Amino acid sequence: AVQRIADIQLKRSKLPIFAEEVPIVEAINENAVVIVSSETGSGKTTQIPQFLYEAGYTSNGHLIGVTEPRRVAAMSMAERVGIELNDPAKVSYQIRFEGNRTDDTKILFMTDGVLLKELRNDSMLWKYSVIIIDEAHERSMYSDVLIGLLSRICFLRAKKSVPLKLIIMSATLRLTDFTQKKLFPVLTPKIVKVESRQFEVQVHFERKTPDDFVEAVYKKVCNIHEKLPDGAILVFVSGQNEVKKLIHHLSGRYPLKGKNKGGHLQKKKAKAIEAKETVKLANFADQAQALLDGKTDVKPEIPTEKVRPDIDEHGAADCDLLEDDEDEETLFGGNLAPPPPGMSPLFCLPLYSLLPSIKQQRVFAPPPEGTRLCVIATNVAETSLTIPNVKYVVDSGKEKRRDYDPITGVSQFNVHWISQASAEQRSGRAGRVQAGHAYRLYSSALFEDFDKFSAPEILNKPVDQLVLDLKAMNILKIANFPFPTPPNVDQLAVAEKRLTLLGALTLPPKQTEAKITPLGKTLSLFPLSPPFAKVLAMANQHDLMPYAIYLVSALSVREPMSHVAREGLGNDSIAAQKRMKAILKQRHTWCGIGQSRRLGDLSVLLKALGAADFGRMTPQECENLGLRFKAVVEIRKMRRQLVNLINTSCNLKHEITIEAELPPPTEEQCRQLRQILIACLPNQIAKRVNESPDGSPVPDGAYQCQLLEEYVFIDSTSMLHKDRPDFILYQEIVQFGPKKCFQNVTMVEP
Ligand code: ADP
Ligand code: MG
Repeated sequence: AVQRIADIQLKRSKLPIFAEEVPIVEAINENAVVIVSSETGSGKTTQIPQFLYEAGYTSNGHLIGVTEPRRVAAMSMAERVGIELNDPAKVSYQIRFEGNRTDDTKILFMTDGVLLKELRNDSMLWKYSVIIIDEAHERSMYSDVLIGLLSRICFLRAKKSVPLKLIIMSATLRLTDFTQKKLFPVLTPKIVKVESRQFEVQVHFERKTPDDFVEAVYKKVCNIHEKLPDGAILVFVSGQNEVKKLIHHLSGRYPLKGKNKGGHLQKKKAKAIEAKETVKLANFADQAQALLDGKTDVKPEIPTEKVRPDIDEHGAADCDLLEDDEDEETLFGGNLAPPPPGMSPLFCLPLYSLLPSIKQQRVFAPPPEGTRLCVIATNVAETSLTIPNVKYVVDSGKEKRRDYDPITGVSQFNVHWISQASAEQRSGRAGRVQAGHAYRLYSSALFEDFDKFSAPEILNKPVDQLVLDLKAMNILKIANFPFPTPPNVDQLAVAEKRLTLLGALTLPPKQTEAKITPLGKTLSLFPLSPPFAKVLAMANQHDLMPYAIYLVSALSVREPMSHVAREGLGNDSIAAQKRMKAILKQRHTWCGIGQSRRLGDLSVLLKALGAADFGRMTPQECENLGLRFKAVVEIRKMRRQLVNLINTSCNLKHEITIEAELPPPTEEQCRQLRQILIACLPNQIAKRVNESPDGSPVPDGAYQCQLLEEYVFIDSTSMLHKDRPDFILYQEIVQFGPKKCFQNVTMVEP
């Protein structure tokens, strides 16, 4: 039996799911497929895996698998359940780059993509007795596909000695999406709804939707803190930058006692230290460069001093990239009167997905004595992480989404109004422990215009990798696959066409469905988009592999280069301008000459990451050079995983080791890397436009790419911005204001 800590047991016993242990376990014992739905925070994710563990579902050496659409959730939930079971070794996680699974693991939390890969090797999932698809209402692409696949696997395993149970867990929305006859023609899912005691939440709309939602949020939080009784505040905004800005202003207005006192003075001190350090770091960067260039007699002097005073407990220190601008300081919040004397401090914490998970965990701890907790979050806090004791919710009504054109694959981040369902989720967070209030910073008329639900991810994302994965499982006619919502036919056709051009699929004569080729099978082994996997397959010569691994890892991780250089553009602050210049200068040095320069921004990535890894740079040093430290760590993990995969599954002359220092690529290696990239990414070649076919004027520096009508420009922070070669290879198109810009540009010509 499990011996839990008394405090944990007490907390569990208060969760609505806890009282339903017997009926839930019975439903699962008696049915192959069970849908459990309840409000966010009622205990589904943390409790149901434990119920099944205690009911003996792992006693024959089988695993309980739980899939999450987000990496953050997979990691933090595994940790939490390990603590609750009082036996952390039994609960592990596995995400794209890493995991801590051992022979002792009984409960495995993983991202949905990981389980899909596992199906390749174990198509009946014999290792598992239960699969739980968590947060199914989010309709992530892979969890949708898993539900389609598992409906069949459960059917096949139902008659075997060890049946496989499928549990679909969802917040209380969109249940009918999962009960379609098409999905479950034979095994009818049993639905278990758990009512939770939800206290009343009074919803307040604005009479008129404000123009500047960040400022509106600021004023609302000030109002709540100054006028309303105790209780934590949870704020939803669109993205990381808005979170940082609000934390900066709010913790400036209501500082923690003894911290940040006389705010500006402390800031000035911090700035002085920073200036000193920047000089030191500049030297360090040169030394790291010399080291990379092979002059190994120069040893970098690694600064040991902390670059910033440690004000880190408070969210304020997470605002590193925010330039303090004295003018804005006084203007922000406009006509707000100064806070009344003796106000208690506001303990502000950020919560967004790129925040290191250790910092994410802080929201679960009680705030310091005598302060009010205020969590400023993006939509990660909407369903997967439950912040305790919230009484006030402030909802900006906004979210940032990566929009893909499903046909061209062009992606851009945009801020949108949320759906009505999301607004309800957000408001509901205020009533978990007591009656609460939700302030929606938009008008009720606008709310009526919101979409009812957000669109399933599968409709808004290229499906190439998915098609390859399904074909690798011998699912040939993808149009017939039981998707909860099928992708549209053009989307599927374009993906098959791209995969065929890549050599991953082939259409045998007199047949209607394309089949996977041996190359395609190899490509589908990698947790990479198919073209990047092909880069690796082609790099298996001339000692190119270590560089190719570096490149595809870097290009698969979100925003390896931080946008500090870009933020300097058009910014009046002298500090920001200076910073941009220094970073661009460093990047030009890294870019080099000859073939290295032709590789363009990818040379910069290679060298910058080399400097970070082999120079053992600290987080602050990375940020100062315009590299996002969390990305550097992720890239390192991804390299390690790819190296393991390649060492075990490819026949290389020499095993690759990740720790070995890598000399910069030679001229010839740069040239070959470039050729491989061009061969694998033919859709991402763009041509400079000098005159338009109809004689209309062409803007300066315009490029035409395939499948896209609009002109696109080389980003002004790119190394090749001034060269404007006739043909270029790009990695991404991002919208900045009215302009579409290429990111990570390489020359195509010889
Ligand atoms: P659901 O999956 O139904 O949304 P969860 O099982 O995620 O609910 O959460 C149940 C409770 O456990 C919530 O009150 C939440 O605050 C708490 N909880 C979750 N993770 C942690 C953690 N790391 N530390 C402390 N409490 C946590
Ligand atoms: Mg949950």
